[in-house]
Amino acid sequence: MARLTQADLADLNTTFEERTPAELLQWAKWIFGSRVYALSAMQKSGNVVCHMIHANKLDIGVLFVDTGVLFQETLTTRDRLASESGLEVATQITKPTIEEQTREMGVLYLDPDGQKKCCHMRKTEPLLDYADNFDALVGSLRRSDGGARGRCPILAVDPETNSVRINPLVNIDDDQLEAYIQEHNVFINPLHEQGFSTIGCNRCTTPVLPNEPKRAGRWRHLGPWSVYCGINPTDLAQDTETAVDLPQSVIDKMFGRETDFVI
Ligand code: SF4
Repeated sequence: MARLTQADLADLNTTFEERTPAELLQWAKWIFGSRVYALSAMQKSGNVVCHMIHANKLDIGVLFVDTGVLFQETLTTRDRLASESGLEVATQITKPTIEEQTREMGVLYLDPDGQKKCCHMRKTEPLLDYADNFDALVGSLRRSDGGARGRCPILAVDPETNSVRINPLVNIDDDQLEAYIQEHNVFINPLHEQGFSTIGCNRCTTPVLPNEPKRAGRWRHLGPWSVYCGINPTDLAQDTETAVDLPQSVIDKMFGRETDFVI
């Protein structure tokens, strides 16, 4: 295994600013083969990434974390994606159930410290349980969502899952996303039609009014709309020395290095 830091990715990130989402997805498949998954919460932008994977015949599996407190519409979207696209969807189910968690720890999501604990238990830990299966995760973060995502890189190292995060949609704005959905008739989570601009657990997500920020419906009870669950490391502070360990051959392939022999 060899060390890969965020700083090592700087040149690739600069080059990749010129690539289309489809080209970035093709690169991800070429580099990581069967060890790349698309992490999707079945929101609109994730639905678009899954459509692009299917349309480009990339055979990238989809990883979905079922926290046990999701909206039925989200589960239905997951099932429809699997049946209509044929993409493999791996669902990681949170243990314990929300009832067991509440009996043992109370209602966690009502205060900031409890929310961090609850999100880690119900979102991050199920992802970590699957981390032996991947070296890279494709996400659907977009800079036009603002806040911490306004500076999201295309490639980011994620030490917690020891993987590379790839965000092919970072430069796609709302109008471009809607145009893709209309042009390709992409099936999206029906909750978006009911005023949900972003979608997470049913305990912590509400619709938003037209004049509210997009993320106003996430952890509304905690305000002021700056909370993230932490499943996407680029939502949190990272420095350039943040690192992961990947096979040397994968890192060489990422940087286009030739190896003549291996000892
Ligand atoms: S979004 Fe709310 S219910 Fe879901 S894991 Fe986070 S704190 Fe818990």
